[in-house]
Amino acid sequence: MQASENSDDDFLFIDDSDENEILDSDGKEAWQVLIVDDDPEIHSVTQLALSDLVVLGRRLEYLHAYSGQDACKLIEKNQNIVLVLLDVVMETDDAGLNVVKYIREELGRQDIRIVLRTGQPGYAPEESVIKEYDINDYKTKTELTRRKLVTTVYAAIRSYQQIARVNENRQGLEKIVSGSANLLELHSIAEYCQGVLKQLPSIIEQNVEALFCARGQGIIDNADDLSFYIIAQQGFSSVLAKQKLDTLKDEQVSQQVKSCYMQKKHLSQDLSQCFYIVRGTYRAVIYIHLQKPLSETQQQLLEVFYTNAAVGYENVHLFHKLNKAAYRDGLTNLPNRLDFVRLLDVFAKSDKENDIAVLIDLNHFSDVNDGLGQDVGNLLLAAVSKRLQTIDCDCKIARVGSDVFGLVGCNNCITPASLTQLFEQPFTAGEQKLPINACFGFCTKEHANGSGVKVLNQINIALNLAKKQRNDHFAYYNPEIEDATLWRLNMIRELRTDFAENRLELWYQPQLALHTGKVIGAEALLRWRKETGEFISPAVFIPLAEYSGLIVDIGDWVVNQACQQINSLSSQQFDDITISVNVSIPQFRRGNFADSVMNAINTHQINAAKLELEITENILMDDPQMMIDALVKLKEHGISIALDDFGTGFSSLSYLQQLPLDRLKVDRAFVTHVAKEGQSVIAETIIALGKKMGLKVIAEGIEEIEQQERLLELGCDEVQGFYYAKPMPKNDFFQFLKESSS
Ligand code: C2E
Ligand code: MG
Ligand code: MG
Repeated sequence: MQASENSDDDFLFIDDSDENEILDSDGKEAWQVLIVDDDPEIHSVTQLALSDLVVLGRRLEYLHAYSGQDACKLIEKNQNIVLVLLDVVMETDDAGLNVVKYIREELGRQDIRIVLRTGQPGYAPEESVIKEYDINDYKTKTELTRRKLVTTVYAAIRSYQQIARVNENRQGLEKIVSGSANLLELHSIAEYCQGVLKQLPSIIEQNVEALFCARGQGIIDNADDLSFYIIAQQGFSSVLAKQKLDTLKDEQVSQQVKSCYMQKKHLSQDLSQCFYIVRGTYRAVIYIHLQKPLSETQQQLLEVFYTNAAVGYENVHLFHKLNKAAYRDGLTNLPNRLDFVRLLDVFAKSDKENDIAVLIDLNHFSDVNDGLGQDVGNLLLAAVSKRLQTIDCDCKIARVGSDVFGLVGCNNCITPASLTQLFEQPFTAGEQKLPINACFGFCTKEHANGSGVKVLNQINIALNLAKKQRNDHFAYYNPEIEDATLWRLNMIRELRTDFAENRLELWYQPQLALHTGKVIGAEALLRWRKETGEFISPAVFIPLAEYSGLIVDIGDWVVNQACQQINSLSSQQFDDITISVNVSIPQFRRGNFADSVMNAINTHQINAAKLELEITENILMDDPQMMIDALVKLKEHGISIALDDFGTGFSSLSYLQQLPLDRLKVDRAFVTHVAKEGQSVIAETIIALGKKMGLKVIAEGIEEIEQQERLLELGCDEVQGFYYAKPMPKNDFFQFLKESSS
């Protein structure tokens, strides 16, 4: 804006502004103008020329410097100087230009306006200086008539104000941008809304009372209604977050918020403002109560901020939805396995020493699903989940697997007894009342080491142990269980290697006819001598071989060894000796067990009747009919079948009756005390039963002559035990046979 050269000098140039505004100064605020000149007269002339001038509603206030150096000091001290009227030549020819450099470069003040003045008409600074340092005007002192001076000052201050406004906007926007960036990190809806309100005071530069309100459904935990809720608050003396808006008991605020929501637009009333936040289907209202009115800029900034906040509000909802899909179980609405791992992470790291984590596995859940249908199964799971939620502490519940629930809470409320009690009453699933029990695996804080995944693994170990136990249906994790697992895995590995390297042996324990004392056969018993020379009991390694499936190959080998032995025996005139081998369940499960036995018999060309298979009652637990069929097939080929450890299992007599048996073996447990008064009842019953079924009865574990005598009285046919001979290597058995037949 340049003044017209032809204007009257005495005319106070007022641009196109409103005259009232210019003259109507409130007297409080003033524009600070610095006059810099080494000639004191210029100071007074300038001040006189500009006396009574009011620019954009404010009067002028003057500061004076008489050298470049003084000017620099004054400018540094006074932050509010808006205009410098600067002489170029003072203590040096370029003292004024140095002040300009100081203002722009040293102080970094780009907003201060500068008007250069020089006494020497020919002495003009280079054009580049004017451009580079953003100088408003360059005048010779003689040019500065009152009118021109007023015009210049007015234009300079006006441009200062525009720069200041742009700066204010920029700073406001920076606050919005950085505020929005902070909000990005907030993932819960409540946290986000709180974050939005927290930014308000810095954006509008005053403290406010504010509420973030929306309808409850899906936003507030457990709020399924459409009432207005307060999600977050700023200011206000009482805690309002998560409460219904009406609990505020301020009819005016409630009304304003609801109207804003219904009318879908911002509403403002005196110092109260309601902003309508909308993005997609997500809608909310931010209510604020101001301390003083907002400037136009602040109002605009606030609106920009709200637009931004609406985008974030939608995002945080979408994030919430995604989170729900990833971390919630759809059926029970409980945290799922993934979330349980996160809960366990927190559990492992927390310092709540009394916390405990549990896995609950429903027993026979698949029977409910298979027998009554999946719908009933689902209702049952929902009922269990509901009952778990009645536990009287602030515990966290999750559905970890199809019929497995997880809990983390305090060890006072979560105990084997309290959980067992929860399962005492049947569960209602639709029309059905279902009695259900469960196994519990616990992990205390003491043993919860490492990550959530590791802890889950630990509780799983405890749960598996609980499932295997006969008496208790719960177990606590301790590192020893893991050690035991490790030991077991190592043993299996060694057994596999040693078997492959032929380090297993088959020993023989003689069996005798009780009446004659004649050796009639032997039981083949596995022996494992490790490379170190250490003997491992079959009671230890047979279960491991069964667990690992290794027993199938080992069992084949045993049958072949026994057949080979029968062959050698018959070639040495001991062809009336029967060899019994023990058979485990996994051998039957393979399906072609009968064929593999027949193969061995054919390979070694032996009389099938000299091979006896010892089975236990337990083989009937799995699939009795399949076992019975296989045994019948073997029996048809002439192989003898003995029932080992009779009386120690739990099989049904009706199945037992269907087994094609030749012999019953009375377990050592019933022989040990057989000679004692009144303690032979079971042995007596088994012998009588065997006789009734037309079977031979052999007693095992005879260690003393008294036991032999009592068994003779009871009518037992055959015996086996340390009293006669311990199990021995095959050559020793030959020797034993030779000695006993001579
Ligand atoms: P089992 O079939 O009941 O074998 C009898 C066990 O009683 C043998 O233990 C034997 O040494 C022991 N015994 C015999 N007479 C006496 C006695 O008078 N006093 C005492 N205290 N014990 C006596 P062993 O050899 O330790 O075998 C333990 C179990 O391992 C066997 O019980 C059997 O179930 C299993 N087993 C052994 N070899 C094999 C095999 O080749 N295959 C399978 N599947 N299991 C086997
Ligand atoms: Mg046996
Ligand atoms: Mg036995």
